This record gives sequence, structure tokens and C-alpha cells, in this order.
Amino acid sequence: MPKKLFIKTYGCQMNVYDSARMTDVLAPLGYEPVEQPDGADMVILNTCHIREKAAEKVYSELGRLRPLKLAREEAGDSMILAVGGCVAQAEGEEVRRRAPWVDVVFGPQAYHRLPDMVIEVQRRAVVDTGFPVETKFDSLPGESSPRGPAAFLTIQEGCDKFCTFCVVPYTRGMEYSRPVADILAEARRLVASGTSEITLLGQNVNAYHGDGQNGQLTSLARLIRELAEIDGLKRLRYTTSHPRDMDNELISAHAEVDVLMPYLHLPVQSGSDQILAEMNRRHSADDYRHLIDRIRAARPDIALSSDFIVGFPGETDADFKSTLKLVRDVEYASAYSFRYSQRPGTPAADRDDQVPEDVKAARLTELQGLIDQQSRAFNLLTVDQTLDVLLERRGRHAGQLVGRSPFMQAVHVDAPDSYLGRIASVRIDAALPNSLSGSFAEEGSSEDQSAHAV
Ligand code: SAM
Ligand code: SF4
Repeated sequence: MPKKLFIKTYGCQMNVYDSARMTDVLAPLGYEPVEQPDGADMVILNTCHIREKAAEKVYSELGRLRPLKLAREEAGDSMILAVGGCVAQAEGEEVRRRAPWVDVVFGPQAYHRLPDMVIEVQRRAVVDTGFPVETKFDSLPGESSPRGPAAFLTIQEGCDKFCTFCVVPYTRGMEYSRPVADILAEARRLVASGTSEITLLGQNVNAYHGDGQNGQLTSLARLIRELAEIDGLKRLRYTTSHPRDMDNELISAHAEVDVLMPYLHLPVQSGSDQILAEMNRRHSADDYRHLIDRIRAARPDIALSSDFIVGFPGETDADFKSTLKLVRDVEYASAYSFRYSQRPGTPAADRDDQVPEDVKAARLTELQGLIDQQSRAFNLLTVDQTLDVLLERRGRHAGQLVGRSPFMQAVHVDAPDSYLGRIASVRIDAALPNSLSGSFAEEGSSEDQSAHAV
């Protein structure tokens, strides 16, 4: 009988990818994914440590899981409870001290060893937070189930940039790029199992420099060109990028590689030169503006997105106004904004000029208001246009499918399930605050849809 595996994923797409790979490594032991922790043989919390209260949220969830585990044990069954990801990495043994009913604690670089841990845990609790990143990618099996029309593929992990607010260099370790051959093999398997769109992932994806097939280091731009040759791969994206690693070769790829979608997430964090310097971003606000100009010159229709942090220590009203000015200058299609949160062990966390929470909250509201206006304006521009939409999943309403436009907008369309996985021409009828709705464009104007069916 198959064993039930429930994974709760916190945080970014890299964790979503890691959770899928955890399912792959556990499949040979008979574990199959389920949607609920109730009655599961194994529960994994795949955690994220980027922003506030991450650890507290995990401990609360562990408190909720405890009675489920006890109920299993009283019924003569068992539940292996595991905490993985960046909170596990940061907390280590502390997890078992505060929640002794946890069986396994493992860091982001250790999940390929989950089968051994599952066997080992029959004898004793396991804490594995080592950093041998190469071993992980070398040891992962092939994917055990199709990933769907749009899939993630991690090509790079960790970061050496040490922005003063960020835990990534401490929880994910130093920068590591997977070899090109491994990435091409994984991409080919994904396409063969029905994936049309791949998003290349990395904490700092455009710093990618993997071993190439010719024995030389390969840049992200070069990798994108090699992936673009895969027959059946219709769309490529990559995230998350650092402005300093956005070189001419990569900008040219946006002009020249058809399958590279016109969307770029390029976090700037702040529009103030003073704050950028204190964040250790190593570029100015004008450097970023010029970079955006060059990207737009190469690909005029590109949709731009960013991350912003408000209330970094010492941020003044004038600094914040510079951020608003940068947002007005660039005009984003979308963006994420966060209140600065003190991450233990990072340099900015120890500063004594922390910004009060109410000031952060007011700034965040103002910034999000401006970003929302820009997103709505961008979405409105697409009304009455016909866009290619990759239909990825069912919508909330019966008979509705949801997909992504080339610009990453979510698009809702009335369509039967048989259209799942197709790239369809959709005429956009309305722009909602965070998505679009549309209907199929007239017969004959859509792509050869049967070619895209999965
Ligand atoms: N590597 C990307 C870059 O250089 O911009 C960012 C990746 S980081 C994992 C994702 C986002 O989380 C950051 O862009 C930043 O906006 C946000 N973030 C990271 N640390 C934060 C903190 N201490 N407080 C608030 N937001 C934070
Ligand atoms: Fe964190 Fe990105 Fe800075 Fe690296 S470059 S330290 S991942 S914010």
C-alpha cells in the first residue's frame, strides 16, 4: 500500500521546486503526495526564513501537527514529522529542543538524503544541516511525475553577495551553479513529459556560471540559447536576478531568443543611493535606471517587476521619496514590497537606528498604492489585445482555466479541461486588479493548439 506524504511549502518558487524534488526522492520508498496532513505517514514542512516570524510560524504549525501525530500513534500507526528548508538550517538542534516530537531536521542542501533519514529515524532523531551542495544535485533521481505545463528548474543556488539585510548566504550557502549538461537533461525530461514553459530558478540566477559541455564556464545567456534549441520548449523565464549581473549578453538574449518571454523580475530594493550603499547592493539608483533603459531598448515591450524593502535601518522620508521617484520613473508591470525585518545574524539587524513599525507600515501602504496603480495601468493596456496564454490549471469556477500571458499576467478563460497545457490565443476582455479575463480569439487566429496538448 502506498504511504502518504504531505509537504507544506513556505516561501518562494525555489522551495516549490525543492518540495517537488523531495517527492521524487521519496517515491522509491513508496511515498505518494496527498493534500492533507491528516492520516499522513510523513509530513514535511519545507520552510523559508526570508521574512519576519518565519520560525514562529513553523513552531505554531508543529504545535497543530502534534495531536495528528499522537492520534496516529494511538491507532498503532506512525507519522514521521520533518522540518526542512531555511528555518531548519538556521535553527538546527533548536527545532528538536522546542518541539521534541519532530523526528527529522534537514537543511536545503540535504534533502537528497531523505530516504536514508527515513530509515535512520526508526532508531533515532536526525538533524542534517550540512552544505555539500554538489552532492545534492548529483544524487537526485529523475522526476517521478510530470510537472505540468509550466515547471520550475533550479539552476543555481546560494549567494555570495551578502546584502546586509539578507539571510540567504547563511541559510543557502555560497553560490553554486549546476553543470549545463544536467540542466539540459532535466529540461528535456520536463518537455518530454508535457512541460511547455520552464522557469529557471536561482537566488541570484543571472550570476549563473555552470560548467559547459565544452569544458568552459557558461553564462546564463549562453545556457538560455542552448535550452532554446530543445524541440517542444515554447517558453523560458528566469528569476531572481541581481542588477549587477545583468550583462550585455543577457540583455541581447531578450532581443534575440524567441522563447525567452518578455518579462523580467529585477529587484532594486530601494531608490536611495545612501540606502543602496548601506544594503551593500553595489550600484546606484541611476545605474539601475540606465540598465532599465538598455533592457527596454533591446526589448521595448518587456514587463518589468521588482522587489522593494521599506524601513531599512536609517531610512529617512527623503530616502523613501527617492524610492517612490524610482518607481514612477521605471513604471513597473508588477512589484513586491516588504517591510524590512531584522534577520538574526545579518549586519543590518544589529543597527541601532531601526525604523519604527508604524512608519514602515505607512510607507509600505503608500508604495503598494503606487505599484497597484502601475499594475492596473499595465493590465489595462492589454485589454482588446490578443495574447498567447499557456493554460496551466483549472480556475476557481467550474469550466474556467487559468494561464499566463507572455508578460506573466494571470488570465482566466472559460474553457474545457481538454485545453489544459495548450498555448491559446486569447482576446483580453477585462483587466481585474491582479489578473485578466478573456475569451478565445476567432478560429484560425490561434496557434496550432493540438500541437500543444499534453
Ligand atoms: N537575490 C535577489 C536580489 O538580489 O534582489 C533577492 C532574493 S531574496 C531571496 C527575495 C526578496 O526578499 C528580496 O528581494 C527582498 O526584497 C526580500 N527580503 C530579503 N531579506 C529581507 C528582509 N530582511 N526584510 C524584508 N525583505 C527581505
Ligand atoms: Fe540576498 Fe539577493 Fe543580496 Fe544575495 S543578492 S544576499 S540573495 S538579496
